[in-house]
Parts: sequence; C-alpha cells; structure tokens
Amino acid sequence: MQFKTVTAAKNKHIALVAHDNMKPALLKWCAVHKEKLSNHTLYATGTTGSVLKAKANLDICSLISGPLGGDQQIGALITEQKIDMLIFFWDPLEAQPHDPDVKALLRLAAVWNIPVACNQSTADLLIHSTLFDAEYPKSIPDYDSYIAKRV
Ligand code: PGA
Repeated sequence: MQFKTVTAAKNKHIALVAHDNMKPALLKWCAVHKEKLSNHTLYATGTTGSVLKAKANLDICSLISGPLGGDQQIGALITEQKIDMLIFFWDPLEAQPHDPDVKALLRLAAVWNIPVACNQSTADLLIHSTLFDAEYPKSIPDYDSYIAKRV
C-alpha cells in the first residue's frame, strides 16, 4: 500500500460514540471539555447524540443509532475523509449485538489513520494535545495508486 500526506484541518470533525453503559462517562467528559469541543464539528451515533445534545447542550450532527447502522455511517464518513477523530467509549464488559459493526468502525479508523480514543485517559491526551486545535500532516492510503496497481 502506498500512502500520501494530507493536512488535517484546524477545525476537526469529531465523531462521538458511547455504548449504553459508557454514555455517562462520555457525557461527563464532553461537559468538562465543552468549550474546546464547541470549536469543532461534532457527529454522533443516534442515542449518544441525543444524550449529548439534551444534557450537555452540544451542537451535534446525529446519525442513525449505532445498532441500526450508525457505526457504519461513521465508518463511511471516515472512508470519505470527513471525520478526523473518533472518541468511542465502547463497553469492554458487555457483548453488543452489533459487534461486527463496532469492529468494522475501529478497522476503518486504523486504515485511515484516524486518532481514536476508546477510554477517558486517551481522550484526555488527545484533547490536551497541541495538535487538537492545529493543522497537522497525516499519512493516508493513496487510493489512486492502489487502484492503478490493481488494474
Ligand atoms: P447509540 O449507538 O449512540 O445509538 O447508542 C452507539 C453504539 O452502540 O454504537
């Protein structure tokens, strides 16, 4: 696979997802960092988005609920390079009916070199990074050379 360098914008498009048992933790984290998060464009799966809108008063683009396809919608947006960061508090102690979708989302985040926080410590490190509010160069798969090689 060949890679190319693109510039991640100052204004990040950030996807927020939390499994049901983890929603209180994500809500608390978003409330603490509301001011910083508000400078960016936020997306969330359906129920996570409803909770964050109602209880943290954040301006969020809500997609379909995760188990109904919301994780896949976020994965598709990552593939289209419309998401720069994923904050995904998945539940390590409960099986999910949409586990294949969860795995697919995490896989696409890895393919497209998206920073991912799966717990509060990592989310803290990301939001306190000097790059959180700055442009930075990142490497992504060079799709054109990938296609050219295969035909
Ligand atoms: P939800 O989906 O925000 O609609 O609960 C989250 C998930 O389980 O992926």
